[in-house]
Amino acid sequence: MNILIVDDKPANLLALQKILKRPGLNIIEAKSGNDALSLLLEYKFALILLDVQMPDMDGFETAEIIRGNEETRNIPIIFVTAISKERKYVFKGYDKGAVDYLFKPLDPDILQCKVNVFLELYGQKGKLEEANAKLKRANEKVLEQQKALIEEERLKVLLQIAGAKAQELNQPLLSLLEDVELMENINHNPEKAAEYLNRIKESGRKISDIAKKIKTIHYSDPLPSYHGSSTIISFDREIKILMVDDSEDVFEGLKAFLGVQDLINMSWAANIKEALIMLEQDKFDMIFLNHILEDGTCIDFFRTMEKEGIETPVIVVAGHGDEMLASQVIQLGAYEYLPKNRINSASICRIINNTLERCRLRSDVKRAQAKMAEMSIVDELTKLRNRRYFIEVLEGEFERARRYETEMALIMMDMDYFKKINDTYGHLAGDMVLSEIGKILKEHVRRSDLACRYGGEEFAVILPNTSRDNIYAAYDRFREMVSKHSFEYGSKQFYITVSIGIAFSNDAKSIEDLLAHADQALYQAKKTGRNKVATFTTGNEQDD
Ligand code: GH3
Ligand code: MG
Ligand code: MG
Repeated sequence: MNILIVDDKPANLLALQKILKRPGLNIIEAKSGNDALSLLLEYKFALILLDVQMPDMDGFETAEIIRGNEETRNIPIIFVTAISKERKYVFKGYDKGAVDYLFKPLDPDILQCKVNVFLELYGQKGKLEEANAKLKRANEKVLEQQKALIEEERLKVLLQIAGAKAQELNQPLLSLLEDVELMENINHNPEKAAEYLNRIKESGRKISDIAKKIKTIHYSDPLPSYHGSSTIISFDREIKILMVDDSEDVFEGLKAFLGVQDLINMSWAANIKEALIMLEQDKFDMIFLNHILEDGTCIDFFRTMEKEGIETPVIVVAGHGDEMLASQVIQLGAYEYLPKNRINSASICRIINNTLERCRLRSDVKRAQAKMAEMSIVDELTKLRNRRYFIEVLEGEFERARRYETEMALIMMDMDYFKKINDTYGHLAGDMVLSEIGKILKEHVRRSDLACRYGGEEFAVILPNTSRDNIYAAYDRFREMVSKHSFEYGSKQFYITVSIGIAFSNDAKSIEDLLAHADQALYQAKKTGRNKVATFTTGNEQDD
């Protein structure tokens, strides 16, 4: 493999030779830009290290000609320069198509690392430009899709919230309507009227509580994508940006491009190690990350972020047309990809604005999801209603039974020796059993009954408007069904039993009473040997 080093000073060429020399690498020297151009006609090069300050034709001019030539335009160029203090040169270099910058005095490690990366890439690229063009289109599409995905998630959560709220509103609303109807039918009974009025007030209060909860769900509309060429960024708070780049000049350059913006606070880390320390100490809104650093690549950085659980948005800054890298980092979760030769005030402002916007949407989704979980009425594992929903319905049904002078039943069940299932077959097997019990129970209950997962390995059923006669028989059937059901997990096959307690609303003064009664009956079933059904009676109340 050939590599071209261009410098007007023999001492510099010698230094480069010394660092890079190794078997298999043919290092060819050029003492001027013209020299370099003629060597380019003779040899095929994998990489060019180009001095910036040279008499006659400087590095920028040379690079421009190399880029302009069909044959040579894709050879990566790394600028080697001593004028590190003039940061505008750095960006000029990228404008001229440099993939990277190295500063004199040269650090052998950094030089070798960067040269290696580009030589490695060289081995893979036959038709680089074609591949890059294809990749570029693909990359843009991926970024677009990622944006659309967040929007889709937002809408999904929004709909779920609407659905959950509708469910929650249903209960007090039904109750309210019933009370209104009852009020219409009573003739001059002030006592009853007062009772109904109180209940109507109570339902109204519940509805208004729910309405308040809905109001606290913060949901902002997405702002239109920022495409403007304006270089003004407007924020309502300070934005902290961390730039990770082995060159402080690139950092200074980026800062210079942003100009004076009071609310932007820029920090610099020279390598991954430093960046991680800073990320631990401070909260940043985004990271501008160079693709190659002295202690690793941007891919390494992403890997570490993943391991450490750092979620700060990352914008990868990389050399000219390196779309291969771009697709890698976009897939890894980079928010944006900024080619060095496209760094200017407008592009930086666009990226900062868009990143902040995406972040805002993402945290919106997260917050809404947390709210959803809090409001959720379905148990994830068994798909039965959860305890929260159960209690709400129980309150409603208990009230209703009293109002219409009917009776409702409450059933509590607890799996027998469930710990043993977990201990013997593992927690996942236990989960599988719970989910299957959920299915069996759902099949078993009447349409008007409500089956819930009360907690852990406990289930509950509300049976509105029921008579005492058939219930015991129905749930003894269920008990038997469970005991005969063969569970399979992997190659293992096993059985499990359930204990069941039944209580009725007419024996209870309050919901707390009713729950306690069902618990007592369940305890009775356990105590008398498990795999049993017991009904609470006022007689066995004294027993416990
Ligand atoms: P018994 O009720 O017959 O007295 O015995 P048990 O072993 O079922 O008793 P206990 O109520 O003390 O233990 C219940 C166990 O259920 C403890 C807990 O590890 C397990 N468990 C609770 N929730 C879940 C769950 O969601 N998945 C799994 N796999 N296990 C659970
Ligand atoms: Mg239990
Ligand atoms: Mg149990």
